Amino acid sequence: MFSFESIAQYHNELKKGSTTCSAVVEFYLLEIESKRHLNAFVEVYRQEAVERAAELDARRKDGSPLEPLHGVVVGIKDVLCYKGHKVTASSRMLANYTASYNATAITKLLEAGAIIIGSLNCDEFAMGSSNENSYYGPTLNAHDNTRVPGGSSGGSAVAVQANLCMVSLGSDTGGSVRQPADFCGIMGLKPSYGRVSRYGLIAYASSFDQIGIFGKNIPDISRTLSVIAGPDQYDSTVSQLPVPDYASGLQNGPNKWKFAYFRDAVEHPSLDPVIKESLLNYFDRLRSAGHTVDALEFPLLEYIVPTYYILTTAEASSNLGRFDGVRYGHRTELETGDLTDFYARNRSEGFGREVKRRIMLGSFVLSAGYYDAYFTKAQQVRRQLYDQTQLIFKDYDVILSPTAPTTAFSFGEKSDDPVAMYLGDIYTVFANLAGIPGISLPLFWHNNGMPFGLQAMTNQFQELSLLQVSELLVQHAH
Ligand code: GLN
Repeated sequence: MFSFESIAQYHNELKKGSTTCSAVVEFYLLEIESKRHLNAFVEVYRQEAVERAAELDARRKDGSPLEPLHGVVVGIKDVLCYKGHKVTASSRMLANYTASYNATAITKLLEAGAIIIGSLNCDEFAMGSSNENSYYGPTLNAHDNTRVPGGSSGGSAVAVQANLCMVSLGSDTGGSVRQPADFCGIMGLKPSYGRVSRYGLIAYASSFDQIGIFGKNIPDISRTLSVIAGPDQYDSTVSQLPVPDYASGLQNGPNKWKFAYFRDAVEHPSLDPVIKESLLNYFDRLRSAGHTVDALEFPLLEYIVPTYYILTTAEASSNLGRFDGVRYGHRTELETGDLTDFYARNRSEGFGREVKRRIMLGSFVLSAGYYDAYFTKAQQVRRQLYDQTQLIFKDYDVILSPTAPTTAFSFGEKSDDPVAMYLGDIYTVFANLAGIPGISLPLFWHNNGMPFGLQAMTNQFQELSLLQVSELLVQHAH
């Protein structure tokens, strides 16, 4: 039976002829079938994946070299446009919407030889931290089915956690890749803002959104990042910086690193004491291996969740304006002669509670009377945060922090308390506000039986350093 360790190992098997893409796709389709209860997929592209695998195997017989993602089985979050396939943002609003073009990341995956196996469940319009806001119902955490997988990219995390694909794509606006990776015991990378084109990614908050990668090891994530990153004529916010071959540069990092962490982050009352202890012990281990690990004061910590929720809801209220049932989205079946009423019904029926809450919050913070008090103020805090972050990176290579204050919580535990849910994003939104890359590494187990991760962040476009240091951090966990 096929067992997946890494893309390199899989490619070796393909070269030796001990497996084929077709056999591997059959394997994953069976796994997906036997774990349907996890509700990770919105749609499985069964027939298409089988045909694509056969085509890739036939190409191999011609003796052509392997593309970087040849035959790699990838799942994609249900917010990425894949031409001819449904893309719904796990919302009733788009339940019948078919993508008419490919997201750039999808085009690049396909050009690199990937097999896209299906679309993955998420919180509606990527808004949430538990996958409980999906129109299709929640995805279950495969470690403990009574617990959430995290969100919003819960399906993408569980698909990798439960061996339903090799790597998956998610999107991360405030932690939606790193937090579910943390809750599921896998790796999740959010690149710098502008590293990966957002073309074809359904927008939530455009100045925060970034496509991210879930995987089981750093070389696989590095290889996938090299494929999907880079300039794109369809996204003017994407960086023109050349894309390194991340995977081949992994070994070239420095021997000694300078780490910083925020004392207030680790002392924060919301942080689970077991997570706190594990991190502090781990920092000691890094120190005894000769690395610098310093505690810094960071007074802005208390402001980052409010700042994030003011700015992202403002952007969301604007981005989601297009879903009116005329240009896009759900259209009411009720007869109505009044246009305003028609829009209102389309949107009331099409959007779920959390999305409505955010549209209202966003409209409020942008309203004439409150714009300066909320939106402008939050933009100022974001700027200060960015400036302070740049100062830190003058002296340090990496910022370390918990990924989330707790391990995966139970279904229903926070769903009636949006503020409690939002506060759980305290450690992840920082990277999106500052535009820097972050990764969650599955280094620890809690005595409640659940995994949890360490978050590492480097300066903007320092993904190579981040991936290099990740390899080192993983080694220190043992
Ligand atoms: N949990 C955060 C939110 O609800 C992050 C979501 C995301 O990154 N898409 O906004």
